[in-house]
Amino acid sequence: MPRTSYAIALGSNRRHGRHGSPDRVIAAALDALAAEGVTIIRMSRVIATAALGPAGRGFANAAAIVESDLTPPALLALFKRIERAFGRRRGRRWGPRVLDLDILLWSGGTWPPFPRTAAPGQLAVPHSQIAARAFVLDPLLPITPQWRHPLTGRTVRQMRARLG
Ligand code: AMP
Repeated sequence: MPRTSYAIALGSNRRHGRHGSPDRVIAAALDALAAEGVTIIRMSRVIATAALGPAGRGFANAAAIVESDLTPPALLALFKRIERAFGRRRGRRWGPRVLDLDILLWSGGTWPPFPRTAAPGQLAVPHSQIAARAFVLDPLLPITPQWRHPLTGRTVRQMRARLG
């Protein structure tokens, strides 16, 4: 696979025994990605977000532009490995999580490749919720305002503006 770029989301809402507060967890996650050969091109600031569900505490959210020669499924597998290494709790959808990594956008367009579409629960790139989540678009906007969603044609700036 040639080197391609990705926009990714990083989130954390739990302290980590060694790394510390959620914003430190996010910095450590980027270090872990870099150690696996992912090149960090641009990193957003870390924003604080109020908890959405019954998880009970706020999230730290960030976005980054990275380059990798991994396909989207291979990058997702790496994300899951890193999430596990940080001790993410599985099971409760809105439960406390040390680290959450998502693929938002890919320079290769969509995954699965057009005209296929993702089955429920399968990897979908762009991320199915990208246009609906301010906590994803807010950190993403300053680092890549012009990146266009390949299916809707809207830029990150336009997606954020539509959210109000
Ligand atoms: P969650 O654990 O709630 O982050 O959901 C992870 C699951 O969502 C994984 O099993 C993925 O297969 C699926 N998924 C679908 N699209 C994406 C995406 N763009 N980035 C990360 N996970 C995704």
